[in-house]
Parts: sequence; structure tokens; C-alpha cells
Amino acid sequence: MNYENSLDFAKSMDAADELSSYRSRFYIPEVNKKESVYFCGNSLGLQPKTAQGMIEQELKDWAELGVHGHFEAGNPWYSYHEMFSEPLAKIVGAIPSEVVAMNALTVNLHLLFVSFYRPTAERYKIICEAQAFPSDQYAMESQAQMHGLNPDDVIIEVAPRTGENCIRHEDIVATIEAHRDSLALVFIGGVHYYTGQRFDMDAITKAGHEAGAIVGFDLAHAVGNIELNLHEWNVDFAAWCSYKYLNSGSGGVAGTYVHERHFGEDVLRLAGWWGYNKETRFKMEKGFKPISSAEAWQLSNAPVFSMAAHKASLDIFSEVGMEKLFEKRDKLTGYLEHLIKTNAPDVEVTTPAEPGERGCQLSMEVASNGKERYEALGKAGIVADWREPNVIRVAPVPLYNTFEDVFKFGQIIGSKN
Ligand SMILES: *Cc1c(COP(=O)(O)O)cnc(C)c1O
Repeated sequence: MNYENSLDFAKSMDAADELSSYRSRFYIPEVNKKESVYFCGNSLGLQPKTAQGMIEQELKDWAELGVHGHFEAGNPWYSYHEMFSEPLAKIVGAIPSEVVAMNALTVNLHLLFVSFYRPTAERYKIICEAQAFPSDQYAMESQAQMHGLNPDDVIIEVAPRTGENCIRHEDIVATIEAHRDSLALVFIGGVHYYTGQRFDMDAITKAGHEAGAIVGFDLAHAVGNIELNLHEWNVDFAAWCSYKYLNSGSGGVAGTYVHERHFGEDVLRLAGWWGYNKETRFKMEKGFKPISSAEAWQLSNAPVFSMAAHKASLDIFSEVGMEKLFEKRDKLTGYLEHLIKTNAPDVEVTTPAEPGERGCQLSMEVASNGKERYEALGKAGIVADWREPNVIRVAPVPLYNTFEDVFKFGQIIGSKN
């Protein structure tokens, strides 16, 4: 792609973009009474304009139907979550029975660890990436403690080599091999939240399985952002939140994937009635009988208000299809990278340069006047993310960002005040 550092070029790219109309399906927050350049979709995705109507529909059904809404609402609440199996399966590359929308991300991680982190005297270690998202670290630590183990003995972190920003795949695989006899679980973020590095989940799963371990991923920064083929890759389990690239609102209902080979009755789960075989659930009998799907991990009945916002967003994903989003993603992020290199050569992009090793986010180290330059972005109406000591993260999202947005960022990051 031959990128040009000009407004005309950015506008011509937008004019040729077949997804450009989707921007108008979202509310774009304003800064100083003008539409902002919103680059924080990796943290909180924007609100689909259809979300309000869908939530209001559930409020109306509740007002008019009361308890009968469970079966008589426009989208009956009893089976509300079932509407998400197909669209989520497409987004994460699973078969529909392998995915379920439920709870929140860290909650789901704990539920999955209960089933898939089963340490023994020989096999008890967990391999993860260094600087994993804090919630994931705390989840792993406390799971180790739940089993009476010391987290320092359990958790093995793979870090970037000295002087490097990202983790080498060969080092992940080598670490798996080095611990193969004591390894219980490999658990890594599909896309690293800080560096934007995408991990080779296919290769990591193979290496983990060859070592006799279970392999799971946190897809918070991967879902709705990168190509996923969980079933084909043979991934054991995964979980994600829906408020980042899936635009379903703060604290919105999260998602879980479990490979179908784990649907058996013998799998240990923390159980609740919504995971119980649907045919006999209302006999209300003793003795848990799991649904033969990822739904077996559900505990409670569906939170329909947050699910209504989720539906508004997933309808858009189903309409667009992931392929087109990936195509635009690579152009948009490629343009961003080009403009940073051209306009601000002193800024170091720390996210991998290879499109196959990242999603839409770029992280960059701004060594000189970092904070001032970040503030200049804010004043110019650009919503980005600052991490101490000197990192700016930006995520141009193909559903609602434009090449002109990226051009504006390039102008401001290049001006030295
Ligand atoms: C955003 C994020 C979380 C947040 O967890 P919640 O339970 O949704 O609050 C956890 N892990 C990762 C990797 C994240 O990126």
C-alpha cells in the first residue's frame, strides 16, 4: 500500500471505503462540541445507536408482561442468551455449542480455571505472558492459593528479551518445553493489552498440548479485532469481555468458549441451575446434570438488559462480517504506522510491524515530551490512552474510525509544541 501524508489522500481512502457508512451507526463522543477522534475502542467501544431501543424493548416487555416475559417477550428471556451462539461462534471461530454469553470476564476466568486448572503433585505450573493484565494475574494467583499452592512456584512468566518490547514465540515454546513435566496450564492473552502483540494461538496450543497441558486464552483484546479459529486450533477454553471491540457497553455481558471435547458430565464445574439440562431443569431435582454445551458453565439466568446492548452490537458484526473488518483494519493501522514514522521519527512503535502479529492497536513510546504530546492530542480532540511512564496506545477501529481520523493523529503527534 502506498500511503500519502495528505488530507486529500485520507479523504480519498474514506471515499473508497465500503464500510464507511457504519460510522453513522455509532454515537461518536464530542470534545469541545466537535466529534472526537476516538481511538479508545480497545478500552471501551462506542455505543451502537440501536442499543437504547433494544434495552427499552426489554423494559417495555417487563412493564407489560411481568413474569410472562420469560416466554412471551419479543425475545423471550428464558432463552435470550441463545441468540448469541451463532454470531459469537463466527467471531471466535467456534461451533455454536462451544460459546456462551454470560457473566463478566474475570468471573468467567475463575469458572474456567475451576474446570481446567486441576493441579496435581507433578503437574501444577501455569505459563503466562509477563505483564499480563492485572485481573488475570490476580485470578491465577488466587487459583493457585485455592489449591494450597504458592503462586511463586506455580506461575511462570515469559518476558521479552532484554532490550526488546515483545515476546518471542520461540521463547514461549521453549518455556513450555522446559517445564513440560510439571506444566498444568498455558494461559495467555490472545493480543497483549499493553504492547498490542498478537500471539500465535495455533502454535502455542500445539506446543501446550504436546507437553500434556491444557491451553486457554484471554481474548479481551482479540475478540472482534483479529482472526480467531478456536475450534480448529483445538484451544481448550477462552473468555473475553464485550465492552472493548465488541461495543456492548461498560461491564456488559462477557463470553466464554469451551472446546466440545470438554462437554462431558465428569468435568468439574461450579454449577448453577442455568447450566442444567434444559429438558429437565424445571423438575428442580437434586444432582446436577450439565447441558452438553458451553452453556453448562452458566450459573444464572440471563441478564437481559446488558444482553440487549450486546445484541445491538453483534447484529452489526453479523451484517458486516469479520473479513471486511480485517481488511480495513490492516489498511487503517498501516496508515497510522506510516504517519508516525513519517511525521514523528522519534516516536517508537513498540507493537510488531507485521500485520499478522498485531490487531488494530499500536502502542508507542514517546521518549521526549511524552506527556505534553499526549495532552496536545487531547486538546485536538483525539481520545487516546496514556500509560506511565511514556506509552501512548491508540486503536483505530475499522467499524467507526476513518482514514481522516488517522491523518489528524499523524498531524498532532508530529508537532512538537
Ligand atoms: C479488559 C481486560 C480485563 C477486564 O476484566 P473484567 O473482568 O471485564 O473487568 C481482564 N483481562 C484482560 C486481558 C483485559 O484486557
